[in-house]
Amino acid sequence: MSKTSRIPDFYKLPLSRRLEIVKEFANLTDSEVDLLKETGSLSRDTAERMIENVVGAIPVPLGIATNFLINRRDYLVPMAIEEPSVVAAASHAAKIARSKGGFAASSTGSIMIGQVQTVKVKNPNQAKKDLLSHREDILKKANEQDPVLLSVGGGAKDLGVKVLQTQRGSMVILELYVDTKDAMGANAVNTMAEAVAPMIERMTGGRVLLRILSNLATKRMAQAKVVIDRGEIGGDEVVEGIIDAYAFASADPYRAATHNKGIMNGIAAVAIATCNDHRALEAGCHAYAARNGQYLPLSTWEKNEDGDLTGVIEVPMAVGIVGGAIKTHPIAQIALKILGVKTASELGEVMAAVGLAQNFAALRALVVEGIQRGHMGLHARNIAIAAGAKGAMIDTIAEEMIRGNKIRLDLAKELLKKHIVD
Ligand code: NAD
Repeated sequence: MSKTSRIPDFYKLPLSRRLEIVKEFANLTDSEVDLLKETGSLSRDTAERMIENVVGAIPVPLGIATNFLINRRDYLVPMAIEEPSVVAAASHAAKIARSKGGFAASSTGSIMIGQVQTVKVKNPNQAKKDLLSHREDILKKANEQDPVLLSVGGGAKDLGVKVLQTQRGSMVILELYVDTKDAMGANAVNTMAEAVAPMIERMTGGRVLLRILSNLATKRMAQAKVVIDRGEIGGDEVVEGIIDAYAFASADPYRAATHNKGIMNGIAAVAIATCNDHRALEAGCHAYAARNGQYLPLSTWEKNEDGDLTGVIEVPMAVGIVGGAIKTHPIAQIALKILGVKTASELGEVMAAVGLAQNFAALRALVVEGIQRGHMGLHARNIAIAAGAKGAMIDTIAEEMIRGNKIRLDLAKELLKKHIVD
């Protein structure tokens, strides 16, 4: 009989029974099942309260990036990631950044955008006017949903309305601007968007469809800047190389994607360590990178008047220190304690700085490697010429020496003799 993945009420079964079913389906061994049962620092109960159909937990290494000086404060940064070299690269970049004062970070506040989509509106422009004239009523209704958020100074602060021309006709989109303070805010915003929907239907005469947060959090931006002493990274050639690498990313989305992937290595690792929603961050950052129609790098690199390298990153940073799984996961709580951040905005600033550090580390490695290889090639060719090689033989001898990692005149002569005999 063939196996079926159609398992009615799988979610209602106790974890042990679910494991038995999966064991049978996938021919797991007893020891594999035992490993799945070891959920480590996340108790099975907690895991089952977090998501559905739980059969285990997957540990990911948690590393600490050292050396981070951000706004003149020292931070140890917890990073959860499966990829080698990321934590080392961040720490190394942060160390280099210290000589010019580390990172200067800032943020715009913690406003999230909730969208309410209304279709089948007879006169969209009139509907827009009507909605705007009921601003206070709509905000009041939204704010009734979350007295706790209001008590900490947050809540729906403003709204906007746009009329979109789509392939399915005109739509009226109401946007709620909600200060979610120390929460990422998706649930809070969604609840508000849902609550105002009936009012909006009445006011527009249309039909409300989607009521959901936008992950393009352009009203919740974090910025970080850094100055890198050119003397610390091998001088002007490396500075120029990094600026050329940035120019490449600015002109080519294929390179920009990888440039930004490096940035997200840092941002996502801190997000995972603190149990923040890294998919939300990824969606927001990549959408922001493409906001003008072309996918661009999230950071910029230039040279200042002293010849030092300067980097700036600007990213939407919808992160929280409360809400979601942040309070539930014991390791996330410890990670936040290690970070010592007092607000979600501060966490966002740290994450922007980590993203910039990661980006710098990757660019430096790529550029220095390229320069070294270039230097080595040039050097090897000169030695081959000095040994008496001519024409195509110059490259042949040079390549052999580079491959053997030994570039010497006596070796070049020896290789040349061998080739001439051959
Ligand atoms: P939440 O509802 O668990 O917590 C937020 C609530 O905490 C606030 O509404 C407020 O009532 C309370 N609170 C207490 N102290 C606060 C403080 N100092 N500042 C702010 N709020 C405070 O979670 P959330 O942050 O609204 O939503 C985050 C979760 O939503 C994440 O788990 C995310 O994965 C999920 N989610 C994301 C999306 C998306 O990104 N598109 C969609 C749906 C759900």
